[in-house]
Amino acid sequence: MTDTSYDMEPFHLQFPFTRSLGSTMSTFFSALAEGQIIGVRIGDRVVAPPMEYDPETGADAGSEWVKVGPKGTVGTWTWVPEPTRLHPVQEPFAFAFITLDGADTPILHAVKASEDQLAAGLRVEAQFKTGDDVNGRIDDIVFVPASDPSPSEGAGEAYTAPAEPEVQMMDAFCDLVYVDNFAPATREWAAALMQGRLFGRRCPKCDRMIIGANPMCSVDGIFLGDGAVVELEGTGVVSNFTVITPTPYPGQKETEPFVRCSIMIDGADAVIGQQEIVGVPASEVRVGMRVAIEWAPEGERNVDDLGNGNHGATAGAVRGWRPTGEPDEPAENYVERMM
Ligand SMILES: [Zn+2]
Repeated sequence: MTDTSYDMEPFHLQFPFTRSLGSTMSTFFSALAEGQIIGVRIGDRVVAPPMEYDPETGADAGSEWVKVGPKGTVGTWTWVPEPTRLHPVQEPFAFAFITLDGADTPILHAVKASEDQLAAGLRVEAQFKTGDDVNGRIDDIVFVPASDPSPSEGAGEAYTAPAEPEVQMMDAFCDLVYVDNFAPATREWAAALMQGRLFGRRCPKCDRMIIGANPMCSVDGIFLGDGAVVELEGTGVVSNFTVITPTPYPGQKETEPFVRCSIMIDGADAVIGQQEIVGVPASEVRVGMRVAIEWAPEGERNVDDLGNGNHGATAGAVRGWRPTGEPDEPAENYVERMM
């Protein structure tokens, strides 16, 4: 029954967050916003960008700040011929280890230059953003070949930090696209969902019926091949549920309390999790309630949210499970069931 026509869509994970910087990074970014790159003296060397702890010993690095740059020397580099929208430079560029004047350790940063200009030993200098473009973030600077390769003025001098650094928090935006390729069992499950079918696999050892995109008996750890497949009816019993009160966050579409529950499918020995109940308010959902699957109409089904780690989920192929009105099963038959 292998069907290989369902591949996962690229998954787009995005969320904004704000983080506190701590004393060392606050000092570094506050100085950067004012056009000064700094390091910290740890023992007999200057580490730039500054670290909170001595990378050799883990001891507190202290706060003996030192001015470094704005010029430096490329040590090693890698060329990025096709930047993505998330790269700091929207044209071919290099990521390079640059040892800033006055520092003993390199900073990893972007260099805007042509590929044939890049070489170990190339002198570069930081270009600072100005005015409203300044964020107090590491992308306030980008490096370019230095117009004058002579040493930076003031590099190695002490830097006096304000008692209360101005930049203490940083807004960040996680933006990650990845593709989780379907495993064969997930493809089979996806194909069945698109056809409006549920199936399980009967374990020859323990006789349990395992349901979902899971080719293994989760008790015996043995592989259950296509020969073990059994078609299941779309009816079952609510075995447990959670009422979720939505809190607002970007992307949250729910506004009223809603239920996610596990359904023990008739004929199966494992539940299908994270299911929605339709037709009754959250307050009426009970353990033991009999429900029937309500498929999304053919043509409206999708498996976009199905993933390899999401065994048993019905993704966008199912609208939810509707109470049948039959008498409840005894709740005590389900209370100690974990899966
Ligand atoms: Zn088994």
